[in-house]
Amino acid sequence: MEKILVIGAAGQLGSELTKALTDRFGSEHVIATDLNADAKEKFDFCRFQVLDIMDQESVRSLVKNEKITQIYHLAAVLSATGEKRPLFAWELNMESLLFVLELAREFNLDKIYWPSSIAVFGPNTPKINTPQYCVKEPNTVYGISKQAGERWCEYYFQKYGVDVRSLRYPGLIGYKALPGGGTTDYAVDIYHKALNGEKFTCFLREDSMLPMMYMPDAIKATIDLMEAPIENIEIRSSYNLAGMSFSPKDIYESILEHHPDFKINYEPDFRQQIADGWPDSIDDHFARDHWGWKPAYGLKEMTKDILENLPKFFP
Ligand code: NAD
Repeated sequence: MEKILVIGAAGQLGSELTKALTDRFGSEHVIATDLNADAKEKFDFCRFQVLDIMDQESVRSLVKNEKITQIYHLAAVLSATGEKRPLFAWELNMESLLFVLELAREFNLDKIYWPSSIAVFGPNTPKINTPQYCVKEPNTVYGISKQAGERWCEYYFQKYGVDVRSLRYPGLIGYKALPGGGTTDYAVDIYHKALNGEKFTCFLREDSMLPMMYMPDAIKATIDLMEAPIENIEIRSSYNLAGMSFSPKDIYESILEHHPDFKINYEPDFRQQIADGWPDSIDDHFARDHWGWKPAYGLKEMTKDILENLPKFFP
């Protein structure tokens, strides 16, 4: 039976993915871990343990003693935070991935999941319907670490047969946890401000189009990828994945339909430059063809769902 270790479980993605994995495999089969000790109260549905992925001895003991079969490695420094501490971001993002890949080899683990990002693309990448294979040249330390990480994943699969799977997520939008320092965080914060009756100051320009995805779609894509038969996983770097694309103006207008008095202004900061280097939209036909990916949510459906449900999590 599978025993799943989630590293970085308390973040925006991990909070929801760990719950979905527990629903799927049972609470006895999932261990949530995170550096953040305060996150313990979130995990009333499975075991939680404080764990620093950089503390290799503790991680190795846990994998060994608990007979772990799968690791979901979600801990990372994200794009905006990474620009403030580039060397730290490189160290954490790269060393932790290499360590997890080595653990997979050493303990012959069944599967590894590691997320990549649209941040692997850069200013010389085609912006519209960005293909799976094209010029990348990322210009953030986060993007550079994700691109290098993708190469390492493919290397470990080719060289050692490690069954590591990966998705290039677009900006993820969920209402159950706060975002962790990315360039698309505005698209989560905007709903909190609208519901609090406050004006929203957006750190991107109103026309700054980016690929995005509602969290239930991201969770479904992740579980579908991990459950697909091994022969269907033809891409071992990371799959392009698309949900929807919108600008700050588009999301604002979708909220206006529910909150007609909501106000916004735009004060672009250093994150605008990061956003300018990323695609507008993504071609994900390999994910669709190889393992049947299909998103369910567009902007309208997402806005309605978030405005209805967010107050239950942040009363
Ligand atoms: P997040 O910042 O919300 O969560 C990351 C979690 O990792 C946090 O709970 C943090 O406490 C934990 N962590 C940090 N350092 C750690 C360490 N040394 N040891 C153990 N845990 C540590 O990030 P997220 O949005 O949940 O992203 C998860 C993954 O998905 C990351 O790899 C990220 O690059 C990727 N991703 C996210 C997005 C997005 O829009 N959120 C988009 C593309 C890719």
